[in-house]
Amino acid sequence: MKSTDVVCIGLSCVDISIVGVDGDKFFHQPLNSADTLKFSVGGDATNEALTLARLGHKVKLMTRVGHDFLGHFIEWTVKSQGIDKSTIRIDDSVETTTAILVIGKNDDRHYIWMGKDRSVSTFCGADIDYEALKDAKVVSLGSLMMLPSLKAEDIAKAFRTAKEAGAIVCADIALGRRTPIDSILPVLPYVDYFFPNLEEGQLLTGLETKEEISEYLLKCGVKNVVLKLGGQGCYIRNSDTEMIVPPYYVEPVDTTGAGDNFAAGFISGLVRDLPLLECAKFASACASIAVQHVGASTGVKSMEQVQAVIDNG
Ligand code: ATP
Repeated sequence: MKSTDVVCIGLSCVDISIVGVDGDKFFHQPLNSADTLKFSVGGDATNEALTLARLGHKVKLMTRVGHDFLGHFIEWTVKSQGIDKSTIRIDDSVETTTAILVIGKNDDRHYIWMGKDRSVSTFCGADIDYEALKDAKVVSLGSLMMLPSLKAEDIAKAFRTAKEAGAIVCADIALGRRTPIDSILPVLPYVDYFFPNLEEGQLLTGLETKEEISEYLLKCGVKNVVLKLGGQGCYIRNSDTEMIVPPYYVEPVDTTGAGDNFAAGFISGLVRDLPLLECAKFASACASIAVQHVGASTGVKSMEQVQAVIDNG
């Protein structure tokens, strides 16, 4: 009997949102004001971990933060939600990764990513706790291609260890430009569920359609390709079947973290041994709640809340 439901590996950061900046005047006057300043934890691994914990799962977060107040803020936040933080590595040589979100008077959004020489850049193979992976039902890497010091061979070793211990392996990816797939080819044969969005699938494979992309990824060894299609839902393909699962249609307020909440919902289904379609529905319901709230991990609060979305169809 495993003592952890899910180990979430990957990026943690702090999102600093500055709301109500007058963008037209900002660069033309030395002193500017804003309406509110908000600190919240983010990063794909942390977002997934928080949603999974709120769904009632036993979660361990494997990440790296700086030895500074932002790092302590991440630790405190995850601990307050019941997440096991014993696999968070605190690095006193770097500062915690930060994303600054400037929201203008007309709700226009601009991100400033502070990742260079910060904790995201030093997370590496030495941060992987293999014993913790063996003790998990699902191991999920949120940040394929996002962690420059985490080598493909380290990821492959982590995934192999998890699979040999009977875990299900999931991976998401973050890509903003065309990146050859070669560097992750050793990793993909261990991945049971892969969650790129359509654009990331295109950037990774150089192919256009969801059918072409998923076929290619299956040939690379992925067992189930789960392509996220934004407001159009998701497309799933494996060697036996393919399906399109529509979203739960809602008016989105902030789509930040839609993908992380989708992954968390899907993984929750895997932990509970739900069939593929039910995992996808639960994922879509989590994401639909998330996009109705500002912030990446504020919407989903409980299993009952998500189930109600599904029951109300
Ligand atoms: P992000 O990078 O913003 O976290 P993503 O690009 O990884 O997200 P998306 O494809 O944007 O992922 O969204 C993931 C899932 O969220 C979709 O598959 C869908 O189920 C749900 N979703 C996204 N946008 C909407 C929307 N407008 N209404 C309802 N559901 C949505």
